[in-house]
Amino acid sequence: MTEHTPDSMNRRQLLAAGATATGALATSRALAQEAVGQPLMGDPQLPEAPQERTGWAVVGLGTFAVGQVIPGFVAANRSRMTAFVSGTPSKAATLGERYGVSRLYDYDNYDAMAGDDSVECVYIVLPVGLHAEYTIRALEAGKHVLCEKPMASTSAECERMIAAARANGRQLGVAYRVHFEPTNNAALSRMNDGAIGPVRHIRCEHGFQANPDYPPHKWRLEKKLAGGGSMFDIGIYGINTALMMLPGDRPVEVSGLYSYPQDDPRFAEVEGGVDWRMRMASGAVISGSGSYCYSPYISRQTYLGGQGNITMDPATTYYDNDALISDGNGARPIGASPAIAQFAAQVDGFTDAAREGRAHRTPGEMGHRDIALIEAIYASADADGTPVLL
Ligand code: NDP
Repeated sequence: MTEHTPDSMNRRQLLAAGATATGALATSRALAQEAVGQPLMGDPQLPEAPQERTGWAVVGLGTFAVGQVIPGFVAANRSRMTAFVSGTPSKAATLGERYGVSRLYDYDNYDAMAGDDSVECVYIVLPVGLHAEYTIRALEAGKHVLCEKPMASTSAECERMIAAARANGRQLGVAYRVHFEPTNNAALSRMNDGAIGPVRHIRCEHGFQANPDYPPHKWRLEKKLAGGGSMFDIGIYGINTALMMLPGDRPVEVSGLYSYPQDDPRFAEVEGGVDWRMRMASGAVISGSGSYCYSPYISRQTYLGGQGNITMDPATTYYDNDALISDGNGARPIGASPAIAQFAAQVDGFTDAAREGRAHRTPGEMGHRDIALIEAIYASADADGTPVLL
């Protein structure tokens, strides 16, 4: 019999094992995270509880509303959809069920929203020719209004919309989403910091090929519903985004030339392309084109400064804008554009303005300015490019 009998071994092994287990338990207790309570941390970015968010009606459930505006609300922190307005009841019902929106209106009972306290803000996503009427009716019903770009068919309509907002003490904004888009804001802040020196020239190219058989393009080719042509729909991105990058400056002269085939049947009512130029008070020049005759889709902005340049290509798309800064240190990307960010930020930004009783970052006056500039560019193009002093 050896000293190491099974029993004695077992006892020693058990003791040793017990000691090891006790030590391991103590060690693991010491290392483990203990479950303890913690007070609510005051993160201002926390989404509000749904019932506390400001209620919105989305008016017109078309391509852009369904694809971008509604998902933007889903990602928002302080805004929620409480009503849909649509001329297509089955579509409104389907979307209402999907997004938990139970108040459904049409264009006939639209004014009944006046008595609906769940709706504080209205987002107009209708064809341009309907913007003024539905904006003014919503303002008169006591709602704040964010209206899609371009603001309206004429600068006279813009003036009536602004007057209605003032008369009813409500905010009026134009949905220039690029002002809420991260990569464009990164480019703006680099330019404000002097990263490319004084900006001397901005070049803007925006366009796509208009398809008269595609319903969302069809109304864009009809003057009554579209207000204008390629400058209204797509060229406006160049103007508005370029002016965003030159805060404190102002246009003093514009000119334009039509740049589309005059015999193209698509352009019987609205223009299919314009090459335009704008002289600023600072001496900087912005030039660009807006076209329904470009393929593939293009959205490009170039900022040329005394010490560098920034190229954004694409510049104003929904999800994937890119910016490249070139200076004495070479070329490198700036900014980042997470999908959906601009749409959610835009509605939350308008909610904040409405709650605080102050102007939105892109107010009705900005939309009016841009329509007046496009009207002046048209006037120049109608006169074979004769410059128009502003
Ligand atoms: P769509 O044609 O896809 O949608 C327009 C919707 O408006 C229709 O689905 C319909 O909705 C409603 N509507 C009411 N009356 C009419 C009418 N007479 N003819 C056609 N539609 C009518 O257009 P978009 O979604 O492309 O454009 C809508 C608005 O959004 C425009 O102002 C456009 O400039 C703007 N937009 C802005 C963009 C941006 O990036 N900021 C991008 C794209 C568009 P219902 O059936 O529900 O009544």
